[in-house]
Amino acid sequence: MIPLSVPSLKGNEWNYVKECLDTGWVSTAGKYVERFEEEFSSFVGSPHAVACVNGTAALQVALRVVGVLPGDEVIVPTLTFIAPVNAVNYLGAAPVFMDCDDFYNIDVEKTIDFLRDETEIQRGVTFNKRTGRRIGAIIPVHIFGNAVRMHELAAACRDRNISIIEDATESLGTRYLDPVLAGKHTGTIGDVGCFSFNGNKIITTGGGGMIVTSIPEYAERARYLTTQAKDDEVRYVHNEVGYNFRLTNVQAAIGVAQLELLPGFLESKRENFLRYRDTIDHIDGLTLADAPPYARNNHWMYALQIDRTRYGKDREEVMAYLKGEGVQTRPVWHLNHLQVPYRDCQQYHIEKACRMLEITLNIPCSTGITAGEVAFVAERLRHG
Ligand SMILES: *Cc1c(COP(=O)(O)O)cnc(C)c1O
Repeated sequence: MIPLSVPSLKGNEWNYVKECLDTGWVSTAGKYVERFEEEFSSFVGSPHAVACVNGTAALQVALRVVGVLPGDEVIVPTLTFIAPVNAVNYLGAAPVFMDCDDFYNIDVEKTIDFLRDETEIQRGVTFNKRTGRRIGAIIPVHIFGNAVRMHELAAACRDRNISIIEDATESLGTRYLDPVLAGKHTGTIGDVGCFSFNGNKIITTGGGGMIVTSIPEYAERARYLTTQAKDDEVRYVHNEVGYNFRLTNVQAAIGVAQLELLPGFLESKRENFLRYRDTIDHIDGLTLADAPPYARNNHWMYALQIDRTRYGKDREEVMAYLKGEGVQTRPVWHLNHLQVPYRDCQQYHIEKACRMLEITLNIPCSTGITAGEVAFVAERLRHG
């Protein structure tokens, strides 16, 4: 079976973890946690990085850091893994769902239309005209590694005092090329950026996450909230409700080793993207989804797009066929505005997300996948 995505742990992971075990530094204190934070922040080019237990926790903390309160609303895309939507819910806030664009990302034009037509600003605070609730933040998600058009979005949000939390959990390594944001990494444009090191991400610590920001007070607050909001280290005085969300040294040790491998992972993701494309784009009815031209993509996940009339099979049929050939694939996540807990939440002209979901199938993308395996998948598709 060629799996959809499995981690590659072929660097210094063993050495660094062994050192943690040999020295007894296995928990949340230890040099690897700090080293991981420092090396991560320098890789993405953000002044501050705070490690935490996973990407979902990073998003939850980020929402508190920017001041989202119970009863607020947060704009989220409907097409995404559910984690950012759940994070909004954990705070007692409500999601407002947006459509996606051609790159699966939140539709920036529609979001700006929504802000212009459906909200009003009172004393610098943006309220949803329909519900009367404050819109505290927006969470653009860089889906499959594709960079969101942050420049336009950031300008619209800045005017309205809406905080931006970038969900960059899928896009570590993606950098902008366009003149305004050139060289900047996804996750470093908004007020706070969140990353994940889950097993299926481009680098993994088993489970893990990172919060990055250029605002020192936000970094300090994230550190405070992820370590139980301790106001007196010795006497254990807590003036707020915090979380036990700090990453352990063992996980951070794996993270440091994985960061060393990241440049190679990025290269292999790109090479395999080009290999897939060479074959797939010559098959009638199939295309490999393009990356946005304004960014250098990390190509975390490859999206096959199927025209069922021309190809003769729909997404479900291709998935079943490939499974029979020993190839694991996965459709895009069920849209969040249709998920049971979120059905009654507000949605704004969602159209494209339904179509993108219908035509898309993710195909094997492990960093360790061989050229032969890529050729095998592409050949099966040609004969399918
Ligand atoms: C992976 C992922 C997360 C966070 O995942 P964790 O498993 O909690 O680390 C959040 N958002 C998106 C879009 C993701 O793909």
